[in-house]
Formats: sequence, structure tokens, C-alpha cells
Amino acid sequence: MTQMERTFTIIKPDAVRDAHTGAIIEKIESAGFKIVALKMLHLSHRQAECFYVEHRDKRFYDELIEYMTAGAVVVAVLEKENAVEDYRRLVGETDPRRAERGTLRALYGRDVTQNALHASDSIHSARRECSFFFSESEMTI
Ligand code: UDP
Ligand code: MG
Repeated sequence: MTQMERTFTIIKPDAVRDAHTGAIIEKIESAGFKIVALKMLHLSHRQAECFYVEHRDKRFYDELIEYMTAGAVVVAVLEKENAVEDYRRLVGETDPRRAERGTLRALYGRDVTQNALHASDSIHSARRECSFFFSESEMTI
């Protein structure tokens, strides 16, 4: 039996700047995800560095932090059965050029860095990422 789960997403600065927020949210809801919490903010360097700490030794880290702090983002907690896996599938591969047709990255991403969205990669990361941005009461609806 599939379990009700929560996952976490960021609509990244390129997608927000290009006015894709509404279209992306519409696709997320149409795919059956319930929005449990949602807000817009501009990440500080410190927040971006902490959020992506697992990547701090990667060659793309500096570019990633630069990109994620370049403009406003929208962060959200999403709920659905099998949410983590299903949302990764909806978002598509990291590199939009390799992402399957119709996925959010194929539709809205530019390149392997500016790829429009973040999606949690496990239930464990989802829990950490949701509470990185939202308090328990903000996620209680
Ligand atoms: N990234 C990048 N270059 C790469 C791989 C990743 O700039 O070669 C960026 C990209 O924005 C990606 C983020 O770093 O979404 C986190 O990378 P990860 O491997 O966790 O990919 P994701 O889980 O987002 O698909
Ligand atoms: Mg990842």
C-alpha cells in the first residue's frame, strides 16, 4: 500500500523571474499534489549554503549558490501518496536537456544549473528541507 507522504520543492530564481510560477503550481496541483505550505523569499548566501551543504565539495557548488541567491524563489511543502518519488518524476532529470518530455524541467529549465526546480530526493531529505523553511504550525493545515 502506498503511504501518504510529504515532499519539498523550490521554484528556483530563473523560473520565478521568467513568470512561470503560476504555470508550475498549476501543473503540480493537476498532478494530484496538495499544497500544505507555500511562501516566496529571497535566499541569503548563508541559507543557500546550509540548504545545499551536501554539495559543498562539488565543483558546481559556487555556481549553484550564486544562482540560488540571484532572485526570489518560491518554497512549498507538497503532500500526496508516494510524494517523494512521484514528484521527482514530475520534475524530471537534473539536466533539462535529458529530462523526459512534459516534465517540469524539460518545460521550464535552461541548463544543468538553472533547472527551474528543486525536489527532495528521499523522505529523510524531505523532512529536513520542509523544516528548514517552515515551522510545524505553518505545516499544520
Ligand atoms: N547542479 C549543477 N551542476 C551539476 C549538477 C547539479 O549546477 O552538474 C545544480 C542544479 O541546480 C541541481 C543542484 O545543483 O538541481 C543540486 O544537484 P543534485 O545533484 O542534487 O540534483 P537534483 O537533485 O536537483 O536533481
Ligand atoms: Mg538533489
